[in-house]
Amino acid sequence: MPRPDSHNGRAGSGAGASLFASEAEAAAPGVYVRVAVERGIDRLPTSGDGSLTYRVVPPEARPIAGQRVEVPLGKAGAVTQGIIVEVGDASLADEMDATRVRSITRLRDEVIPVDILALARWMAGYYVCPLGMVLAGMLPAAVKRGTGRTRVEIAALVGTALPEGTKLRPAARRAHAALCERVAAGDAGPWPLRKLAQVLDLASLAPLRRLAELGVIAVTETTEVVVRGAACGASAGSVGASADAGLQLMHTQQHAIAAILHAPESGARLFRVHLLRGVTGSGKTEVYLQAIAQILDEGLSALVLVPEIALTPQTAERFTRRFGEDLVAVMHSGLTASQRHKAWARAAAGEARVVVGARSAVFAPVQRLGLVVVDEEHDSSYKQDRLPRYHGRDAAIKRGQIAGCPVVLGSATPSLESWHNATVPAGPGLPPRYTLSELPTRVPGASMPIVKIVDLARERAIRAHREGLEDRRIHLIGPTLEHAIEATLNAGGQIILLLNRRGFAHYISCARTSCEFILSCDQCDARLVLHKHQGLPMGGFVRCHHCLAEQCVPRLCPICQGRVGFFGGGTQRAEEEIVRKFGSLGIADGSTLLRLDSDTMKSARDYHDALARFSRGDVRILLGTQMIAKGLDVPNVRLVGVLDADTALTIPDFRATERTFQLVSQVAGRAGRGGQTGHVIIQTFHPTHDAIVLAAAHDYTTFARAELATRLRASLPPVRRMARIVCRDADLQKATHAARDIVQALREVGDPTLDVRNPVPCAVSRISGQHRIGIDAFSPTAGQLQRALANARARGLVRSDAKTAIDIDPVALM
Ligand code: ADP
Ligand code: ZN
Repeated sequence: MPRPDSHNGRAGSGAGASLFASEAEAAAPGVYVRVAVERGIDRLPTSGDGSLTYRVVPPEARPIAGQRVEVPLGKAGAVTQGIIVEVGDASLADEMDATRVRSITRLRDEVIPVDILALARWMAGYYVCPLGMVLAGMLPAAVKRGTGRTRVEIAALVGTALPEGTKLRPAARRAHAALCERVAAGDAGPWPLRKLAQVLDLASLAPLRRLAELGVIAVTETTEVVVRGAACGASAGSVGASADAGLQLMHTQQHAIAAILHAPESGARLFRVHLLRGVTGSGKTEVYLQAIAQILDEGLSALVLVPEIALTPQTAERFTRRFGEDLVAVMHSGLTASQRHKAWARAAAGEARVVVGARSAVFAPVQRLGLVVVDEEHDSSYKQDRLPRYHGRDAAIKRGQIAGCPVVLGSATPSLESWHNATVPAGPGLPPRYTLSELPTRVPGASMPIVKIVDLARERAIRAHREGLEDRRIHLIGPTLEHAIEATLNAGGQIILLLNRRGFAHYISCARTSCEFILSCDQCDARLVLHKHQGLPMGGFVRCHHCLAEQCVPRLCPICQGRVGFFGGGTQRAEEEIVRKFGSLGIADGSTLLRLDSDTMKSARDYHDALARFSRGDVRILLGTQMIAKGLDVPNVRLVGVLDADTALTIPDFRATERTFQLVSQVAGRAGRGGQTGHVIIQTFHPTHDAIVLAAAHDYTTFARAELATRLRASLPPVRRMARIVCRDADLQKATHAARDIVQALREVGDPTLDVRNPVPCAVSRISGQHRIGIDAFSPTAGQLQRALANARARGLVRSDAKTAIDIDPVALM
């Protein structure tokens, strides 16, 4: 955030010790700072957070904690960006040779506010990541580069009287008279200089500069972010605030709002986590909106996190419509750099008091935070899969704790972690950690969709019987779903079809049953996926979904020279099939049928445009991966089809069942949000699996109870906390040895409650030529896990680096 009045201290050459004539001078009183450099050096043990001490020159520069700074680093003194984490005197240099304290190169304008600095410290410790790297990720690149920042001049009124005997040119005289008139009318400024020239109807700034010389006005400079160009999601014209459209809240909604805003014991507003579980379309968003309206009335601000792909124009509009564009800042990946910077600056200045954004918006510099909302809190996209590997939901909870305000976690299918915290006593005789509010029904006038589970094995038998054995094509859509799609199209309804797999065929193998050839990636432990592409030989290419390497499609099996077959279906194959089956009903690729997956959606703009077309009704069938399962609220969607509910069921992860339950429930929730009853058809080879049966019955509680019992038996999260360390190396031996050393280091910590498992190859045992060996560690509490890791880290035995990935509370175990 720009700090208009900061002094830009230039520290000369920054050549370190050579600047000082003697050691005495080096130790002389002055300003010293500790700086976390933005390079990811995990250098401990001496200085706790890995920050380095620098001297501030010139001494009159007044650095503050959180301010960005440039410092020399390493033998060559390469200039590196960093953040000041502490300001003090020469004692900050106590532990090092005072003559070796170097000077900062430059103080910059951007400042990370203290509460976010505190969040960064927690993240660095908790997620075992260098503080400098955590801080580096907190400021958007646009803010660091200052994209769109321009200097603006501000004119403040000093006094309308002119010095005696002043001679003025006609233009200046007119300007003076007009200014006096304005002041007399009650507008005493200050004004942006250009704006003042406009309102006074002046042709240039010259007359105002003359008035400044004469001491009528004082002109100072400040910076402001100006947005150039428009990105998607930007609505035309300004949207004003409107009330809540006279909604009569349900009792359950009223209770939820009261519980969130008032602690039960004292009625006071405190840090507290509330889990809001409400079926899809039960009015959760309305609860957030009304709770936010109340805290805005108290002069406070709110931070709302939503998963990136649920951050549709629809979501953004609900907030801007309710509170007005001036109060709301929406941060999504479709923003241009200057828009992003502007949103940031508006939050920092306290102008934007409702900030809505995806994971990284948890670092938005919202002022006077009064409420934090995490919508779809179960969503795994809240976990960042690169350093720092933080969980957006958990960072949001920490942020609420630092601000001392309530935090609401909302979901139709809460993560078992949150459900555990909201329903299981925190200890003997203690209440659960979180409070729980539930919205068990949809809002008045809407009913839950009718869900039908269809056994794919039976569907195949039906088709074989009906069409004879000569139809050897792969059908992703069985007769039951086909019939339902036809009926819905004929009735004018819209349809959502989910297939959580991209490409055309997800494995390519020899068609002969006697041959074992399957096409795999050279660099990864993974099969290659066929993607169709017009104009290429064989009609497409094959791609590795891990390292993204691409190859030509093989014509023949390299082992037996037999024909190759393309098996398994992805969204591209489903697309072809839909056109083939429903073309006669007016379904054509690209116009009335839209495929939405990360291959067709190259940018946030594509995604926003696609959803807008579907919302308008031009598109009749929306086919896509899990991207379409969230946040969409299109009243005319009367049918949702899940082509293969088993995609997540078979992954080697203890959360496979939970993920399946969530995905099926979420996508089913897109149906019947208008007046008409919605229908959902779920195709599966496991029609009696708990996750599928209970999702179809909208029965979260039974599912959660059973799943928690399973986790308890296996001592898996959320019953215990988990850390996962993956050692990578091109040399398998080295990766294995590194993993063994880490296991030993963790066991040497000597905490009997820490359960460190033996290293095993990961489910995907090699990616981009790097072998991957995983270590799982479990502990009864986060604190114990933390202490063990900190201990091993302090002794230099475990560190985050290019070869070691430490993941605390991992959500993906591939
Ligand atoms: P969720 O976030 O749980 O999916 P929403 O808050 O989006 O639910 O509510 C679904 C729809 O119902 C929205 O169009 C919303 O305006 C409307 N709605 C919310 N609460 C009520 C209510 N108490 N009475 C009538 N309609 C409501
Ligand atoms: Zn690969």
